[in-house]
Amino acid sequence: MLRTVAAFDRLGEENAFAVLARANALMAQGRNIINLGIGQPDFRTPDFIVEAAVKALRDGHHGYTPAIGIPPLREAVAADLAGRFGVEVSPDTVMIMPGGKPTMYMSILMFGEPGAEILYPDPGFPIYRSMIEYTGAKPVPIPIREENGFAFSADETLSLITPKTRLLILNSPANPTGGVTPRSEVDKLVAGLARWPDVAILSDEIYDHMVYDGAQHVCLLAYHEIRDRVILLNGWSKTYAMTGWRLGYAVWPERLYDYARKLAVNLYSCVNAATQYAGLAALTGPQDAVAEMVAEFDRRRRVVVDGLNQLPGISCTTPKGAFYAFPNIRRTGWKAKALANALLEEAGVAVIGGPDFGILGEGYIRVSYANSTENILRALERMGEFLTSRKAA
Ligand code: PLP
Repeated sequence: MLRTVAAFDRLGEENAFAVLARANALMAQGRNIINLGIGQPDFRTPDFIVEAAVKALRDGHHGYTPAIGIPPLREAVAADLAGRFGVEVSPDTVMIMPGGKPTMYMSILMFGEPGAEILYPDPGFPIYRSMIEYTGAKPVPIPIREENGFAFSADETLSLITPKTRLLILNSPANPTGGVTPRSEVDKLVAGLARWPDVAILSDEIYDHMVYDGAQHVCLLAYHEIRDRVILLNGWSKTYAMTGWRLGYAVWPERLYDYARKLAVNLYSCVNAATQYAGLAALTGPQDAVAEMVAEFDRRRRVVVDGLNQLPGISCTTPKGAFYAFPNIRRTGWKAKALANALLEEAGVAVIGGPDFGILGEGYIRVSYANSTENILRALERMGEFLTSRKAA
């Protein structure tokens, strides 16, 4: 019997990938499945970005790059943050990462150990808790409440901090709820954090372009008073429809940068060279495709929320960000995972049960509207028929 370390038995995962695999398997059997499960744009990466990668390969960018990323890309990230949020960051604090997740992994690895506490949003992206458990630290959920528009509450978050807290994970716009935390709440949180100077903050802003109804994204790096302890997680996956390219970036506090660089050297050496050139084209080229995609998500958001609110037993708060709706299904009588499962197997609609995002996700399902309006309407119809004809299991 191989004797692996216990930490591996504590690793969790992301059920969205399992649902995707099941949906694909059903489709391979000839079933018609509408996938509102996976969190990735249904758009292609814009052509000029693809061409930049092809050119990079033709030009001979076939070797290792610096572990921290190619200089022009780190400079482009700094310019992008300055342009969009007025945030000045040195390119020397920017690190190019193979996707958004590795920043999460590294940050949690830097602060998690037995005896430490790490705060994370619940419901929230499942990898936060998985990685916290892996390190042996204590996961402390920050409740994300529907009555709060799925924004986190500064007071509640601050009340959960103890002398053992090492890291606070924030995510706005949020997966799975689509919640966007307003500036006033972030201001309050930052003011309260003055009492806790040893707590680092991981701000997952991967959906920062996707805000609606006049909501504004607040970049945590804009707060000078916590600047030396904020880790920014961001990337290209969602904004430029590049989930399969594996490209992200982190802005690290100076104190952590070298740890992250060493982890990169130990783990993956550098990010794929051609992908980095694609990322450079994305940031420095025309942004029309991003604006069009966000406008399209906004249209679908209205369709999905209106449609969900007409289904028996379902009520849906209007999400202000990302591309997810998180309808409340309590009045249907179904448990969330049983409903998600039955919708996939019997109605041919893939969604994710709220409990896959944390204990407080019971009573909700996540519906991704990164699918065509036509498919969304068909899926809503199927869900309506299912909920009318089928009794809760
Ligand atoms: N953070 C959040 C909140 C996400 O929803 C996701 C992807 O779904 C990620 C990070 C990971 O992004 P990537 O695919 O670039 O690793």
